[in-house]
Amino acid sequence: MNKSKQGRLIVISAPSGCGKTTIVDRLLAQNQSWVRSVSYTTRPPRTGEANGRDYFFMSAEEFELKQRQDFFLESAKVFSHFYGTSRAFVADCLAQGRDVILAIDVQGMKQLCAKKDASMPMTSIFIMPPSLEALKSRLEKRQTETKKEIGKRLKIAEEEMAARSRYDHVVVNQDINQAVREIEDLIK
Ligand code: 5GP
Repeated sequence: MNKSKQGRLIVISAPSGCGKTTIVDRLLAQNQSWVRSVSYTTRPPRTGEANGRDYFFMSAEEFELKQRQDFFLESAKVFSHFYGTSRAFVADCLAQGRDVILAIDVQGMKQLCAKKDASMPMTSIFIMPPSLEALKSRLEKRQTETKKEIGKRLKIAEEEMAARSRYDHVVVNQDINQAVREIEDLIK
């Protein structure tokens, strides 16, 4: 923690199944001063996910209440569920001079860009799969979505990839170690 330094938002987006969670976990394990913003979501937990560690899981009613209270710095509906970032958590971390990693979708990144808040300097990174074929096979292998959901995620992946030029940097996740190294270099 460095109180004389202004913390930054590190926004990382990637199509579903691109290895983003693994990459973010590695970045955090190797860089103790960085912190991940745990998002709030109405999506039900997947096997192995823990409340407060992976997400704060909540009902649509609870989420809507928080939205009305202006709790979220940004929020979006992704794959028919709501996701949002805590404004207070991010502000606290930045005030302490800590860099905060936000693993959010393209809609969320666009909202943050539109705010252009000087107290929240931002670096944005888009992670690409080596190919759409590779992404499809990763989604099928992890067996957390139905065939229909995989089709939906691939269609959205194409739309998200079309927005990559709006990010400061694009990293292709051909090899996970290489991708982590590249992102570390970009952040540092
Ligand atoms: P998943 O359900 O697979 O964990 O996440 C689905 C998508 O929602 C991913 O692209 C993920 O980055 C995005 N996401 C997770 N948390 C947030 C958030 O707080 N805000 C926004 N805008 N997207 C989020």
